[in-house]
Amino acid sequence: MPETSAIHPSVARFVEASRQGSRYLRELERKLSKPHVVARSERARAVLRVQAIALSAIREFLDSHGFIELLPPILGPVTDPGIRGAGQVVVDYYGWPYRVMSSAILYKQAAASALGRIYFVSPNVRLEPPEAALTGRHLAEFVQVDVEGSGMSYEEVMDLVEGLLKHVVAVVKGEAYRELEILGRDLPDCSDPFPRLTHSRAVSMLRSLGVDADEASEIPWDGEVILSGLFRSPFFITDYPLGSRGFYDREDPERPGVLRDFDLIYPEGFGEAASGAEREYEYERVLARLKASGEDPEEYGWYLGMLADGIKPTAGFGIGVERLTRFLCGLGSVWEARLCPKVPGVYSP
Ligand code: AMP
Ligand code: MG
Repeated sequence: MPETSAIHPSVARFVEASRQGSRYLRELERKLSKPHVVARSERARAVLRVQAIALSAIREFLDSHGFIELLPPILGPVTDPGIRGAGQVVVDYYGWPYRVMSSAILYKQAAASALGRIYFVSPNVRLEPPEAALTGRHLAEFVQVDVEGSGMSYEEVMDLVEGLLKHVVAVVKGEAYRELEILGRDLPDCSDPFPRLTHSRAVSMLRSLGVDADEASEIPWDGEVILSGLFRSPFFITDYPLGSRGFYDREDPERPGVLRDFDLIYPEGFGEAASGAEREYEYERVLARLKASGEDPEEYGWYLGMLADGIKPTAGFGIGVERLTRFLCGLGSVWEARLCPKVPGVYSP
């Protein structure tokens, strides 16, 4: 890895440990089988307290910016298919196959179009591939704060999530300094404007380092860590190529093939913090995108019906709470940010 000095030591240690693959996972399984023992440690208590402080800072920020918190949907006939190859959980809902939310994106569009500015603190289930257990960033069950506003541009959404993260970091530094001390975490300065680079610039940066990255796809997981390690403050990657993301990220009408979307990336090797976008909201465009991404429009009955009736344009983002906690606390792996974590492929309570 280049510039290992910028990669946080706990991330570097995790990368090293996870190279042992199944041996690392067996040890983890043993540890996770006794959550009451893990939770007793001073370290776990510090992590969970930082998380609680961060979550209440998020709510305070969003509430003060005119967003209202709605209760999140958990089940539905369809859910977000744009989840990079992860499996969905299907349950028998009175004879209909329903999905456990992989994200509430479809409901966010409905809610923001009707109500203006909304957010969910949304539990999501994604059966990530077993190799995701070794990224330090993936759980099979996680929570994202899922935010959406009507009439917003993706630049405005980036300003919003940048303000949100700055607020959370400032509150945590102020209110959780004892916990940060216990964790040995010296949070980086997040007060300067976050750099913004396009996806194609990010790909060429990675290629110049000899990392395999593709102009037509999302940044690969290992490339994300390397890129993230080159930065000392959070930064944005914008303008992903059509086909690399969910069907709902809006294609720029002026720049065909380019999406009006972004990822927010933590520095020091912690990787992706949040993804956001303006949304496609016009029936014909969504139908074409659904088909192009291999989805069956039949399954999207209520959603397409809503678009045919007409909804307002919206934009928003989702920020993962466990990944935020990992960054704030300087944790090697995201599993430490849950009391009973579900690590992909690992049996645990
Ligand atoms: P996505 O729509 O896939 O970008 O998910 C939104 C946000 O949720 C991401 O930016 C992450 O912060 C978080 N997230 C997504 N998948 C996972 C996962 N498997 N485990 C933990 N957090 C996740
Ligand atoms: Mg994402």
